[in-house]
Amino acid sequence: MNIGIFGLGLIGGSLGLDLRACGHRVVGVSRRASTCQTAVAIGSVDQASVDINILGAAEVVFICTPLGFIVPTIQQLITILPKTTVLTDVGSVKTPIVEAASSLWHNFIGGHPMAGTADSGIEAALKNLFVQRPYVLTPTPATPTSSIEVVSELVKQLGSNIYYCAPEQHDRAVSWISHLPVMVSASLIASCIEETDEQVLKLAYSLASSGFRDTSRVGGGNPELGVMMAKYNRAALLKSLQQYRHNLDEIINLIEQENWQDLEEILKLTKQRRHNFVDIIG
Ligand code: NAP
Repeated sequence: MNIGIFGLGLIGGSLGLDLRACGHRVVGVSRRASTCQTAVAIGSVDQASVDINILGAAEVVFICTPLGFIVPTIQQLITILPKTTVLTDVGSVKTPIVEAASSLWHNFIGGHPMAGTADSGIEAALKNLFVQRPYVLTPTPATPTSSIEVVSELVKQLGSNIYYCAPEQHDRAVSWISHLPVMVSASLIASCIEETDEQVLKLAYSLASSGFRDTSRVGGGNPELGVMMAKYNRAALLKSLQQYRHNLDEIINLIEQENWQDLEEILKLTKQRRHNFVDIIG
């Protein structure tokens, strides 16, 4: 197939590497000419340009820009694409994008490959990034079956595990397992650095080990991405945070009341149920 990729960063660049390896012709567009040159040099695309007209013959276009540019990109693309081109995006929030994109372009299906690294940009592109990772597709009742089929087939070729759900369900689910953890982990780091005794704080720095590494990892990630999650998935994230505050209050109450039995019951339950999540994400 003739495939277009708009936004040649970690995700766009990685998609290009694998789609080319599957035998597709891949043409890319990015904001900076230097990115386009690198994308060609590392074999992520056959051809690349800062000029969107290069995508005129694409049968499918993956939009891989940061979240805030996805809808403006579609507004640009629809002026040059034939009506038959299937558009899909890789944004990590779906409801606002799917709503806006579907009203602009009939052949649109939202997507979210749940794979990544801490790095960004074309230099961070990796082969096989999506193998055995979840790739969520969020068709609506109005999404043409042919668009679902075309994108599903490409996602299968990437070696991903496909999940289908409504955009709102996707956003609620990722709020629990991705966006809430970022805010909780950030709050953990922010709380620790509030320690007022300089010596105790320094001791804590020295003693921090694997437990703190695990629980602080996502809170120490890219601040721009964290803000994007909050901005675009605001309603679902607020609900998750409010539930989290409720659970935290419950634990505070139990400790204040020295109710060790009920605290142990909660910890037994969380120990048991963690495996539901960990088994799913592998
Ligand atoms: P990234 O590495 O920063 O890449 C984004 C690329 O988009 C940049 O390299 C930039 O290219 C290009 N770009 C930015 N603004 C543009 C514009 N106005 N027009 C054209 N190109 C533009 O980011 P990413 O991690 O690949 O994320 C891209 C998308 O994937 C986001 O929507 C994100 O939600 C989603 N996603 C990310 C992950 C993850 O873990 N990182 C996972 C799943 C989904 P130039 O170099 O040319 O400026």
